Amino acid sequence: MEKMNEFGRKSSALRLQDVTKIFPQPDGSGEVVAVDHVSLDVEDGQLVTLLGPSGCGKTTTLRMISGFEYPTSGRVLIGERDVANLPPNKRDISMVFQSYALFPHLCIWENIAYGLKVKKLSKEEVLEKTRQVIDLMQLKGMEMRFPNQLSGGQQQRVALARAVVIEPSVLLFDEPLSNLDAKLRVYMRDELRSIQQRLGITSLYVTHDQSEAMAISDRVVIMKDGVMVQVGSPQAIYEDPADMFVANFIGRANFLKGTLREVDAGGTAYVTVGDRTMKVPNPGSAMPAAGEPCVLMFRPEHVRLTEDAEKGLPARVTRSTYFGTNIEYELHLGEESAVAQIFNPQQTLRRNAGDSVCMEVDLGSARVLRMDRQEENV
Ligand code: ADP
Ligand code: MG
Repeated sequence: MEKMNEFGRKSSALRLQDVTKIFPQPDGSGEVVAVDHVSLDVEDGQLVTLLGPSGCGKTTTLRMISGFEYPTSGRVLIGERDVANLPPNKRDISMVFQSYALFPHLCIWENIAYGLKVKKLSKEEVLEKTRQVIDLMQLKGMEMRFPNQLSGGQQQRVALARAVVIEPSVLLFDEPLSNLDAKLRVYMRDELRSIQQRLGITSLYVTHDQSEAMAISDRVVIMKDGVMVQVGSPQAIYEDPADMFVANFIGRANFLKGTLREVDAGGTAYVTVGDRTMKVPNPGSAMPAAGEPCVLMFRPEHVRLTEDAEKGLPARVTRSTYFGTNIEYELHLGEESAVAQIFNPQQTLRRNAGDSVCMEVDLGSARVLRMDRQEENV
């Protein structure tokens, strides 16, 4: 499927089919499975993010799409073309890097026009397209400067301009904002997302920053050890994580160990934690079988503090941190601990380290997950 956007650009869907990449260990001692049977569809015009810890295979996945690495097995499709064995310059792809990778000896105009000249476009076309993208990226007035005369944010805008000017079918981003300071990173991610949507370019974006992934993505892919653990909208993943790893990676999570007693006909789960049995009406789709050990997962914002021992589990405050919009309490409950985030703290009773409280979990928002194997052995 190809469609035109407002600039008359074409774009295409991107598909990975059962892609695996195995590297020999540098010391010859064996093999590393960097990417393990990954299949993924990025629909035309969508932005999908690969999110996961360092070493989980994100960059290797991008490099197989861009052509800097060849898959050990599997197919890479752009539109209907299988590009897995084509060199990078034949794939109709642009890539934006963390390091910007601008030509230091060329001015901004030349940096952006470079790819068009390589494609042997006419002088008029080069002029017209370069001008159009410089407008789009708000780089007017900087055309004659050199990269070292721009701020980091401006350099990344030039890198993005250079990537989109050649009208690629697919745009790849490898941690493009990681070199910028926190405020600029937030500003640039919004800008980048709005340009991507305006141009309608199919994009695959790599980051290890979960809030960046949540802010810009149509869908997020959570990766771990070369494997895709979960794919979904940011909201779907946050609200129904596939396991404890995902729950911890997207947002913050509290876990209380327990046993799943049963799930009734209405879908309500009965979980025993210590000497209490809790009713969880929306336990999610990642429960173990009845009778198995489980964890009750709930977010810091799903906790209220009360004095009422009927409503909550007895806990001791071990730390309290004031953030203005919220206050965070670290709580100890016997062997386990949890974090509570209380919004609008001016309106609530301030607790201090050492205080005894009761932790009331909003069970309507809690989920029931399988216990990680390593947790079971603790
Ligand atoms: P990420 O980008 O998620 O941090 P990478 O894709 O760079 O992860 O790496 C995934 C795994 O593959 C890591 O264990 C890494 O050490 C290994 N790896 C990556 N590139 C090579 C290579 N050229 N040779 C050997 N091992 C590699
Ligand atoms: Mg990487």
